[in-house]
Amino acid sequence: MTDNVEIDPVCGMEVDPAEAVGHSEYEDHVYYFCSKQCQERFDLGPADFADVA
Ligand SMILES: [Zn+2]
Repeated sequence: MTDNVEIDPVCGMEVDPAEAVGHSEYEDHVYYFCSKQCQERFDLGPADFADVA
């Protein structure tokens, strides 16, 4: 059972937090990423992605 799924805000993929490559906190929300590239893009401009959720 993997109901606990987060959305990677950069690419829109579903990410299981337990298997996420990394995560970043932004404005009290933790975002999980499918790849380091997605995390790096997010970290460069969180405001560009944080709305997607
Ligand atoms: Zn991604």
